[in-house]
Amino acid sequence: MGAVLLATKPSGLAMWRDALLAVDPALEIRLWPDWGREEEIESAVIWGAQYLAELRRFPDLRLIVSMGAGVDHLVLPPGPPPGVPVARLKDGMLTQGMAEWVLLNVLRFHRQDPEYRALQAARVWEELPPPETAKRRIGILGLGEIGGAAARLCAHLGFPVMGWSRRPKDQPGIEALHGAAGLDAMLARSDILVCLLPLTPETRGIINARTLGLLPPGAFLINGGRGGHAVQEDILAALDSGALAGAALDVFEPEPLPPEHPFWVHPKVFMTPHAASFTIPSSAAPQVVENIHRARDGRPLINLVDFAAGY
Ligand code: NDP
Repeated sequence: MGAVLLATKPSGLAMWRDALLAVDPALEIRLWPDWGREEEIESAVIWGAQYLAELRRFPDLRLIVSMGAGVDHLVLPPGPPPGVPVARLKDGMLTQGMAEWVLLNVLRFHRQDPEYRALQAARVWEELPPPETAKRRIGILGLGEIGGAAARLCAHLGFPVMGWSRRPKDQPGIEALHGAAGLDAMLARSDILVCLLPLTPETRGIINARTLGLLPPGAFLINGGRGGHAVQEDILAALDSGALAGAALDVFEPEPLPPEHPFWVHPKVFMTPHAASFTIPSSAAPQVVENIHRARDGRPLINLVDFAAGY
């Protein structure tokens, strides 16, 4: 029986090993960089593109599992060894964390929390106009695992929700749009725009002066996708002109965001350091082990990355 190689930051290795062994105690697990005999490595479970070049040394490698949802870092050169499939995670806890982070920021903006904090700081007792949930339209870029969950959560609270994807979709209670025309139609009606796209050549820079300019005046932006989805200067310009009333940002380019970047101190920007959600190994382990077994038996793999589509 072949071995599973775990490769991530050293502090995460033992937790991943224990999580996988809890699902299948018979797994033979090796921890990077102590992989032992190269021909024994059958699957690699990794987080980070820095391992990809080295994976070419394992002649019988038949599966790579990435320990996250986004794979933009893996599709860049050198990419995985030719012919070795890559699976990503679709994990309930990771998705729940992302949906919670979206909801936190939707409610922050919807319930005028920045304004109330400013009033509190000034010791001003003043009621703002009541927000109307049914009139706060939410547009979600990316209606996949995470975007779909965020859309359902917001729709459940009574917000009108639209979602944009590459291919047509049918999701009860969500207005699904796709393609270039669908994008512009959605933007024009998005009081809160949420980005939960994968970063691909098609989606890089999608949040820019043109698309921000299509939003209703005073809209809000929530970006939990990748920093590369946004032209950061265009967000700043839109905030400063008032076209955007606020932005909640979890992802940046580069990361960490340099200390001198204006986002850090901008009064309308609410930042988290790429911490919207996390992979919890014990939650993700069952699907990883399932794929390890499938690869071993030659059965179809789950949650495969489509390298042609880039996600
Ligand atoms: P999925 O692959 O499940 O969903 C991606 C969605 O984006 C799909 O609806 C897809 O359309 C759509 N999409 C992709 N390309 C295009 C395009 N060119 N035009 C229109 N729609 C497009 O991914 P997840 O939901 O699991 O994850 C989404 C992203 O969230 C990740 O790639 C990552 O960047 C980010 N993320 C961020 C985290 C954080 O901590 N900030 C944590 C986890 C993920 P279709 O349905 O037609 O395929």
